Amino acid sequence: MTHLSITPLAQWETGNELSTPLFISGPCSAETEEQVLETCIRLAKKPYVKILRAGIWKPRTRPNSFEGIGSIGLKWLKEAGRQTGLPVMTEVANVKHVYEALRMGIDILWIGARTTVNPFAVQEIADALRGVDIPVMVKNPVNPDLELWIGAFERLNHAGITKIAAIHRGFSAYGKNKYRNRPQWEIPIELMRRIPDLTVICDPSHICGNRALLQEVAQKAMDLNFGGLMIESHICPGKALSDAQQQIEPEVYHQLIENLILRKTTSTDSVFLHTLEELREIINEFDDKILELIAQRMKVAEDIGHYKKANGITILQPNRWDEIIHTRSKHGKELGLSEEFVSALLNAIHKESIQHQATIMNAKEPKIQPVKNG
Ligand code: PEP
Ligand code: MN
Repeated sequence: MTHLSITPLAQWETGNELSTPLFISGPCSAETEEQVLETCIRLAKKPYVKILRAGIWKPRTRPNSFEGIGSIGLKWLKEAGRQTGLPVMTEVANVKHVYEALRMGIDILWIGARTTVNPFAVQEIADALRGVDIPVMVKNPVNPDLELWIGAFERLNHAGITKIAAIHRGFSAYGKNKYRNRPQWEIPIELMRRIPDLTVICDPSHICGNRALLQEVAQKAMDLNFGGLMIESHICPGKALSDAQQQIEPEVYHQLIENLILRKTTSTDSVFLHTLEELREIINEFDDKILELIAQRMKVAEDIGHYKKANGITILQPNRWDEIIHTRSKHGKELGLSEEFVSALLNAIHKESIQHQATIMNAKEPKIQPVKNG
């Protein structure tokens, strides 16, 4: 368990009471005053947005693309907040951004994925915020490193920032993929387990990179009990100066939120609770049996280890491993298990077997003490 001091959303005092699911929207980038105001005013026509976002300084992959409108955009964002009565947030990546955003009275800051990855940059931002009671949301680093993400919360916390939330925006991978950034849901799920007080928001826009996938990813995040959504919107998405393929019009954003099925996280219905408990008991028994079976399998692997050692044979036998993968994948498929799952499970078991066998193979034989004469 990581010991962080986290102030719950309800106590964030941003002028508007915040709660989960926390819905955030606004343009990827502030481009013109008209674009920022119109996007935010149209968004605020329905109560489906609680915080407005806009990027002022944009961390772009290649130079010579639109790198943000700069400080002037802070005024437009602030004005959008004033006209809609909503708190506003922007991304800060260095000390200059922090000072300018604070000077303009931006309500909430976020640290982008390309900044979280760099402990020097995060530390500088944290130091610049020492003594300032402002909420900060931290996007995951671009690489799938949970410790680095948690490290950023710790750096902020050490500087006295306790109004902290996380934003899951997926992890980059080389080559063509369904998603712009792979969600790797197990990472934010582990974060929720490790820091239960932390609100973890999902950013389907940067995961998908394509508006056609937004609804499905947003629903998945809600089903996984995320604390909210950050989705980019633009009055004319096709003409956006950044992330044109993933932004949606404010009215499309409203539709997306209306289409979401929001389920309860728990129930007080006693029949439901009882049935769930019974089913979970069965799962517990299965888990115990699975572990016992794996331990028995490991014992056999150890016997094989002793036998191989006695006969001077190597641990890894590629043909045998290949045969295991093929036969088990086929059997798993017949049982309705995905190939990806069977392969991950077998790899984990095989790794553990190799470790057990290596311990046996490399154990030092007790030396026979020479008998002293006389
Ligand atoms: C953004 O929110 O516009 C942004 C740049 O996101 P990320 O840091 O997730 O790439
Ligand atoms: Mn963007």
